[in-house]
Amino acid sequence: MVDRIAKDAGVDFDDCYQCGKCTAGCPMAHAMDLVPRQVIRYLQLGLPDKVLAAKTPWICANCMTCSARCPQGVDIDKVMLAIRHLAKKKGMQPVREADVFDDAFVGNIRNYGKSNEAVLAVKYNLKSGHLMQDALNAPKMAARGMIGLKIHKVNDRDAVRKLVDRCLKGNG
Ligand code: SF4
Ligand code: SF4
Repeated sequence: MVDRIAKDAGVDFDDCYQCGKCTAGCPMAHAMDLVPRQVIRYLQLGLPDKVLAAKTPWICANCMTCSARCPQGVDIDKVMLAIRHLAKKKGMQPVREADVFDDAFVGNIRNYGKSNEAVLAVKYNLKSGHLMQDALNAPKMAARGMIGLKIHKVNDRDAVRKLVDRCLKGNG
């Protein structure tokens, strides 16, 4: 599994010398159960189960700061994505809300060619079980025109759908 993650991310884990620059610059490190440096270390040690079960790849914002800061060119952002895809394939959901949101967001783009906040919120709230999450804010947001019931679609939805399907296939 370590080889699969390395191949999908296009990295060599032996390049990492554990300097910690990735972790020092990560804006989400405070919320992670394994910081980026530890994720790489577990993979160096041949312990993929530790990272597949971790919340970290699902909390990662994919901002790429770690990848930009790494003196060894280890693309940690891609490692996080590769772990996420592999965990999902194995039916693991360490942070269920993140997975539900991902699916709702990608489904929204696939169906309409763009994101519709109201549809996204309804799908996410229903599937995540947070039914009342936006109950107080939604009317205020609607009154200010921040969300609406009209569903916006791009003209060539088929082209976007094919693009999304190609990306999803690439993650398979
Ligand atoms: S910045 Fe690069 S070399 Fe340093 S710990 Fe992170 S991955 Fe390893
Ligand atoms: S891509 Fe993820 S792990 Fe890297 S700095 Fe951003 S939030 Fe942290």
